[in-house]
Amino acid sequence: PTTVIDGRARARTLQLQVAFDVERLAGLGVRCGLATVLVGSDYAAEAYARRLRRAATAVGIEHRHHHLPPDTTREEVLALVVRLGADPAVSGILVLRPLPPHLDEGEIFTALDPAKDIEAVHPENAGLLALGRPRFVPSTPASVFHLLDAWLDEVDIAGEAFYGASTICVVGRSNNVGKPLTTLAAERGAVVVSCDENASRTGRLARYTRLGDVLVVAAGVPGLIRPEHVAPGAVVLDVGINPVRDPATGRTHLVGDVDPAALSVARAATPVPGGVGPVTDVWLVQNTVLAAERAAKHR
Ligand code: NAD
Repeated sequence: PTTVIDGRARARTLQLQVAFDVERLAGLGVRCGLATVLVGSDYAAEAYARRLRRAATAVGIEHRHHHLPPDTTREEVLALVVRLGADPAVSGILVLRPLPPHLDEGEIFTALDPAKDIEAVHPENAGLLALGRPRFVPSTPASVFHLLDAWLDEVDIAGEAFYGASTICVVGRSNNVGKPLTTLAAERGAVVVSCDENASRTGRLARYTRLGDVLVVAAGVPGLIRPEHVAPGAVVLDVGINPVRDPATGRTHLVGDVDPAALSVARAATPVPGGVGPVTDVWLVQNTVLAAERAAKHR
């Protein structure tokens, strides 16, 4: 039977550690603050902001959410980002995606204070990550490997030996999820197979995904991975979070990129919801605490 990798349990353990750090820092007079910025409305981004509020308040750090109207100008968004960069009460900043089309994501990310850029989207931080000297490890790829490392530990497999002898296939190549996933996989010594939409379009997706002793899926396509895409005994980590509306009830629920039928082929797999997502939330808060601690040292 397939082992379910329980992200919620892992997130709770991580949360206790982060809460402990927040308390330790508070004892030293250091306060941590998380600021999120959302321009316009988006179902997934708004849900994410609410989850981050819960994750932040659960460990005793302040969260301020800046929800701006969709027609906010470039100058206004840049001014807010710069203001948050200078605000000593803010230790970490997250600009939520998607941004409306009139805003240039790259320009806004570049205006972030790199020391507060907890998702490593500023070119300097993305560069440091690619060089193997990350200032912050972005929360989603970090959570994938946190779960994988914890699972290896549980089944008593040495991480170094496992990665050195494994192929990791990553489906999806976005700047914030897919690309850093391949960087972290390569750093662990694995053979890395990276593919995107093009592999599906040309009918070769299964050929690549079946190479993976570990299959990490971050495409944002519900049910993309079916049984024939998974090598028997692989470990599958499903990053996808896709809102799906049930036509019968009219209610929206979340599904991953992996079809539930594919799970039986795997040795172990993360569920959606309750897999990578809960760890991601706590990881982002942890990065905020890390930023606050570093800022205090530089005062
Ligand atoms: P994105 O849209 O920026 O990138 C998607 C990537 O997948 C692209 O490289 C694209 O080429 C590729 N892709 C799309 N369709 C494909 C297909 N049919 N076959 C193969 N590759 C395909 O998305 P993102 O920001 O990287 O997010 C991906 C998914 O992960 C989304 O469902 C998102 O909601 C979810 N997500 C989850 C977390 C988490 O904490 N679990 C965090 C961020 C994003």
